[in-house]
Amino acid sequence: MIIGIDDTDSREGMCTTYLAALLIDELSAFGTLLADPLLIRLNPTIPHKTRGNASVAICIDCADPQAVIEHVVSRVSSFSRLECDTTNPGVAFVMDGEYEQVKQELGAFFRRAVTDVISIDDAKDLAAKLGLEFRTFKNGRGLIGSLAACGAMLNPGWDHTYEYLAYRKQDVWGSSRSVDIGSVYGADRKTYPNTWDSVDFVNDLVVCVPHSPDPVLFGIRGNSKSSVSESAELIISESVERSRIFKTNQGTDMHLLSASSISEIEGMHSYILEGTVQSKAETIRGGHSIFVLEDTFGDTIDCAAFEPTKNFREIIRNLLPGDGVVVYGSVMDGTLNVEKINILSIVEDFEKRNPECPSCGKRMKSAGAGQGYRCKKCGTSATDPELIKLERGLKPGFYEVPPCARRHLAKPLVRSEDSEVPLFPGR
Ligand code: ATP
Repeated sequence: MIIGIDDTDSREGMCTTYLAALLIDELSAFGTLLADPLLIRLNPTIPHKTRGNASVAICIDCADPQAVIEHVVSRVSSFSRLECDTTNPGVAFVMDGEYEQVKQELGAFFRRAVTDVISIDDAKDLAAKLGLEFRTFKNGRGLIGSLAACGAMLNPGWDHTYEYLAYRKQDVWGSSRSVDIGSVYGADRKTYPNTWDSVDFVNDLVVCVPHSPDPVLFGIRGNSKSSVSESAELIISESVERSRIFKTNQGTDMHLLSASSISEIEGMHSYILEGTVQSKAETIRGGHSIFVLEDTFGDTIDCAAFEPTKNFREIIRNLLPGDGVVVYGSVMDGTLNVEKINILSIVEDFEKRNPECPSCGKRMKSAGAGQGYRCKKCGTSATDPELIKLERGLKPGFYEVPPCARRHLAKPLVRSEDSEVPLFPGR
């Protein structure tokens, strides 16, 4: 049977992946794990999310499904942070005999949950229509993610990566984590580019160790189970209660829809959009840099590189009107939050200078608005300024936010076949 779980945690503690790791260990008393457990990231713009809008799914072969259901529901009930307003757990179960008849609809629901906005009623209606067993707590919003995770398990053909998650012992939850930072840098050096986003070399930050009070000690992301394990084994830290490798849709760009015009763009959705820079980026209070992008129909949208994207803002600030770009990112409140940009073409940049006098060689003076230039001494004149070509300081190609600002779903350039990425940036 497949078990999907979502929305058990709060900002004060817990993590749905921890509950999955705990259940996988406990369920070995009931049966055998049949597939890699899933850590699915859903629409990153959903406001109800605690952190990264994750849900999980487990697939086990068991003799007594009712006993498993009871055990899972009792663990979700006791571990969930039900006192928190925004914690509304949902658990969905798909039995072996139901797979074929629900596969397609749950697969489509999974895709929708990653790209679109779904109501709780929609999820409840689908579970009822498909005749699935499910449990909800409080308003039951977690049913959306739990059904989506089941849909992902039933339709395994999507682009995927892996994350090795190590969990802390319960008696130290909430205290500061003890991880040898040097060992994290060493593990990254050894396994990058098969693992990524463990450290941010440019900003000198460890990214794989969270600071929140949840049970995660560290998480290593990578292309294969062997590379994330190799990296995790090199990390020196406090003792680990348990660990688990999840198959995930992290780092795949699964949230992005192709938009052929700005008019089709909706808030709370994420897009790949081609256009022309209409105005140079303005940097507003807080250090956020925003430029205007225009599509071929003349419609425009604000595109932002927010302060947490650090050095990426330099790229955005170097764009000039007329540059051709493809932007990748989520739209919230009418602004596209740029995760990645492909600069297709750059315009030439010129500085205007007063022309030289052909007689004396000195720079002419302006003869007044719209009246060209004149050399007072020699009486010579010119209509146009001299144009000096400037270095752009920006080349066409792909640029991305640094690891410390990466969205879980965003595909790092190091995974892309179509971009030329320096293999070891900053290393
Ligand atoms: P963590 O990353 O720590 O596990 P979280 O960020 O995953 O926490 P949740 O507590 O799971 O956040 O809250 C997200 C809620 O939004 C869940 O109830 C989930 O079912 C719901 N949800 C997920 N995707 C969508 C969607 N596309 N439309 C509407 N609701 C969604």
